[in-house]
Amino acid sequence: MSPMTRREFIAASASTLVIAAIPEALAQSANHANPKPWYATMRRCGQINYNEIDPLTIDVNAWMDYWTSLKIDAVLLNGGGIEAMYPTEVPFHHRSPFLGARDLFGEMAAAARKRNIRVVARMDPGYVFEEGLNAHPEWIQRDPDGTPRVRTECPWLNKTCMFTSYFTEQMPAIYREMNARYKPDGFFTNGWPSTATLDVCFCSTCQKIYKEQTGGPPTPFADVRSSAYRRYYEIYMDRVAQVWKLWDDTAKENNSDSVYVGNLGGSIRTIKDLKKISEVAAWFNADNQGRAGDRPIWGAAQQGRVASSVMGDRTVTNVIGAYSNSSTLWRHSAKPDAETTLWTAQCAASGMVPWYHWLGGSPLDNRWRKPGRDFFQWLAANETHFRNRRSLADVAVLYPQSTISFYHAEGKEERQLNGAPVDSADYLEGLYYSLLEGRILFDLVHQGNLSVETLKPYRALLIPNAAFLRDSECEAIRSYVNSGGNLFATFETSRYNEWGEPRGDFALSDLFGVHVAGDVAGPAINSYMRIDRAHPILESITDTQILPAPEFRVPVSPLSLDATNLTLVPPYPTFPPEMVYPRVPNTDEPTAVFRQLSSSRVVYFPGDIERTAWRSGSPDLSQLICNSVRWLLGDRPPIASVEGDGLVELFAWETDPGLALHILNYTNPNATRPFIRKFYPIGPLHVTFQLPAGKSVSAARALRSGATLALRQSAGAVQFDVPSVRDYEVIALT
Ligand SMILES: [Zn+2]
Repeated sequence: MSPMTRREFIAASASTLVIAAIPEALAQSANHANPKPWYATMRRCGQINYNEIDPLTIDVNAWMDYWTSLKIDAVLLNGGGIEAMYPTEVPFHHRSPFLGARDLFGEMAAAARKRNIRVVARMDPGYVFEEGLNAHPEWIQRDPDGTPRVRTECPWLNKTCMFTSYFTEQMPAIYREMNARYKPDGFFTNGWPSTATLDVCFCSTCQKIYKEQTGGPPTPFADVRSSAYRRYYEIYMDRVAQVWKLWDDTAKENNSDSVYVGNLGGSIRTIKDLKKISEVAAWFNADNQGRAGDRPIWGAAQQGRVASSVMGDRTVTNVIGAYSNSSTLWRHSAKPDAETTLWTAQCAASGMVPWYHWLGGSPLDNRWRKPGRDFFQWLAANETHFRNRRSLADVAVLYPQSTISFYHAEGKEERQLNGAPVDSADYLEGLYYSLLEGRILFDLVHQGNLSVETLKPYRALLIPNAAFLRDSECEAIRSYVNSGGNLFATFETSRYNEWGEPRGDFALSDLFGVHVAGDVAGPAINSYMRIDRAHPILESITDTQILPAPEFRVPVSPLSLDATNLTLVPPYPTFPPEMVYPRVPNTDEPTAVFRQLSSSRVVYFPGDIERTAWRSGSPDLSQLICNSVRWLLGDRPPIASVEGDGLVELFAWETDPGLALHILNYTNPNATRPFIRKFYPIGPLHVTFQLPAGKSVSAARALRSGATLALRQSAGAVQFDVPSVRDYEVIALT
């Protein structure tokens, strides 16, 4: 081994620091040799996920010619883990039986490097073959009765446990062998750690943890009322961080510029603590390849926002499955071009690096090649405009990690409120959709990053039912409002601590201006909000004295008469029509609080207005949310005002060459159900764009259409018309 370089010495020293200090340490070690590591400037990424029989037929050069045509910076190539795609000598590292004399990983890596493409070894630490089980029975996850856990579709594969030496000795041994032979630019693990539910395993190592550290086995789902689960959650997250760090150190042993990246993602639904993972991750990969069921098309843009809420400007990639990954999965059939294109466009718009993914080395369906190539070539031609410096959004939306992870799963796998099923992410889904309707520019801020400093760039903080919040997080919100920030919050926000232990009142009752006056009521149908007094938030709503009430609500204390705008009409029968009339037409229970404080404004809805808006589709509720946000922002115009028909999502960035406004066109009958088949162009759109202080621009170009747009200058802003947006448009202002 060569003597340690200064850079390696710094990296090695960093490994002895506490976990919380790692991002700075990583940044410093990178800064000494190079301003940015290679993966920090990467803009396009590809992956051919070959299988064990592919060595018989795969055409190495044809694949690399395809990736070269996409102008990718890095390619993901299957190395090993479950199965080695090279002639490994590590015991129990199962070689593909079809490998023969080939070294497929080596050939692919060499072909990539010949074309100046970086090589990341795609590994899978999740399973071993029977020889691994027999030689190391301690590596394998067990059911409570001791039965080894296997992959249902492939029962010859045994599931490994991350608390065992498989993760701390066997995988590092494999990485070291690959480091010595191929010096990859990075390692990626499929499937691990993921952001989903924690594995609860009964191998001997885990049994020992339960006996000595948690006081018994944890529940297999997120039940934070159980002290065993809470303790296990912390032990689990510590282990994830420890393994991630170990693998990153191992990746760097032979190449200080190398990196380890795990598999994360999960869109807005996560159980594992993203903040904790971000403290060890230099690169966040989102395994958010597509959508199924009733998931909306904007799932990739959501992913970008969630990842940035913990990663800031560090690298975030998003895997785009070019195959048909809907609720019925076809691994070898292409998705419609339009769906693939709009998903990829969202990765680019939200600041992520798109990672194009195909499965199987000898495809029979080749329709997926063109949309990837077309989009990536366009991206490459306009790369400079995707080098973002900062988001220009002036509204922050809280990413309520504890609530999304744990809210109302008491003793049951299905989350319930008063016996009715609830999805803890629906609050954010609902607020998100309302903000799309309102065309409001926003960023997500992770609950773990709440501070006056983080919130400083934002004129308002919007909180979608963050029921579970730490005392310190509530204090950060209070300080933000006291220093002039505006606040929108709903339902049970701040009613519990981060582990769901109830407080006597909202921790933020001083900001909300009301107190908890009873247990959560609902689910209610046929309940209303009576309009008692005019307010700017209600101005656009005319010709009605009532509005639909949310499904659930926290009963709260009355307000003074002059502060009461909306009050509860309790639920009454929906059938039969003879019985459908309110028994109690008036109450003094507020269903909204609109507060003007000395230097800030607060809007609080005691009902789950955003969740009900999302689930019911009520435009009244969505309009109330948008009107509230506009009132919070006051007289100052929005950063970008976009007028014209259509459902769009907006991002605005300060970029290396200037400014960029991204417009994603979701106006489509398949927006909330896969797959987008074709586009329905919108336009013209009339845009007024406020320039950041000190910035001036003199040209506007639409990067998708290639058109130069006429710019009109007006005090601190520019105006322009976008004639048409087919799938996606980026207006580059320079
Ligand atoms: Zn175990």
